Amino acid sequence: MPKVSAAELFRRGFNFTPARVARAPGRLEVLGNHTDYNEGLVMSVAVDRYIEIAASPRTDGRIELVSSVFPQRERFAVTDIQRNPEAPWADYVKGVLLELRRKGVHFSGFSAAIDSSIPLGAGMSSSAALEVATALVVREMYPYALNEQGAADVPPARDRQGRLSGLGIKERLSLARLCQAAENRFVGVNCGLLDQISSLFGKAHHVLSIDCRFQTVAHAPLVGEAMVVCNTGVKHALVGGEYNALREHCESAARALQAKSLRSVEMSYLKANKDRLSPREYECAYHVVGEIQRVVYAERALREDDHRQFGQYLFQSHESSRDFLRNSCPELDLLVDLARRHGACLGSRLTGGGFGGATISLVAYHEVEAFMEHMASAYEQQTGRKLEPVVCQVVDGAG
Ligand code: ADP
Ligand code: MG
Repeated sequence: MPKVSAAELFRRGFNFTPARVARAPGRLEVLGNHTDYNEGLVMSVAVDRYIEIAASPRTDGRIELVSSVFPQRERFAVTDIQRNPEAPWADYVKGVLLELRRKGVHFSGFSAAIDSSIPLGAGMSSSAALEVATALVVREMYPYALNEQGAADVPPARDRQGRLSGLGIKERLSLARLCQAAENRFVGVNCGLLDQISSLFGKAHHVLSIDCRFQTVAHAPLVGEAMVVCNTGVKHALVGGEYNALREHCESAARALQAKSLRSVEMSYLKANKDRLSPREYECAYHVVGEIQRVVYAERALREDDHRQFGQYLFQSHESSRDFLRNSCPELDLLVDLARRHGACLGSRLTGGGFGGATISLVAYHEVEAFMEHMASAYEQQTGRKLEPVVCQVVDGAG
């Protein structure tokens, strides 16, 4: 079936034209694996793959959702928002609606069609894009302004064309936190703030450098190189226990070291106190502390326009994830090895939660096609699995 827009999906699903459309980009974690929930540093980009939602308000107090990916419709009353094990994908939307209400945002029923160009399970964070797009499409239909305390008394103004005023930096941060809370509380994934911040703060031709302790964002230029995503085709299940287990190792390591988080731990201190940790806690902490240092050095390399050095940190990051965090898998290792063998590749590593999913490679722009052909044929030869590498453009965030 040819790809259709969210508006077309809406027309097919509800037989009329949607009133509003909002979209939010997916993201790639460029460097900083599992550092976000340790209050560490992480680099990411927003990419030109989106969740787009077309919607129209309803007067019967009901919400009805259709998705391009999941065949069954989901229907519920605004006053009765609950999980439905038959349609777990709708939990991301419901979680955001509940968090909006908790903040004092008023909204009524609506029909919505969700379309996506973000590959599922490729570590591009379709879930955060879905959350952010949900929050924004509700804002389009039932305008609200958020601050740290909750919904402001005065909603945002519309211009003559009916466009809402843009989101300020503080409001973006409030929205990112709200979406994270939806995923933590309602979906039950203990994710950090990286995905939501990336979707809301992305900047074209720049890498975001996010400080997860102080919740600040800086942009460092990256021009002339492309990001290529290679999906192993092996499914990772973040709702499963692996991600939460790693997080617990990191948090118990910090507690054993009497640190607020691993962000506060220096490498020399960690090594000197190795015997206070279990072997697994030490390995996870060793990865996180080293990875936070790598982000600092990598940002410096970008500011000096030294992309070769920047790429080296990507390779090192992969080795650390593989050997210490142990969230790699043979397919991811193979992809990084194959990438390393191609002359146009500056750096490559697993991206996202791990345990399958995808790698990201930094590749000289004019050699992207050759690189992708090399990856696809070598991977298929060695695993029998098809590989369809994806080139991503770095884009502005949502809103
Ligand atoms: P990711 O790394 O892509 O964020 P997650 O497991 O965190 O992976 O989130 C993926 C989930 O997001 C899907 O299982 C589904 O529930 C939801 N989702 C993603 N895209 C869509 C879509 N187009 N329509 C409905 N739900 C979607
Ligand atoms: Mg996700």
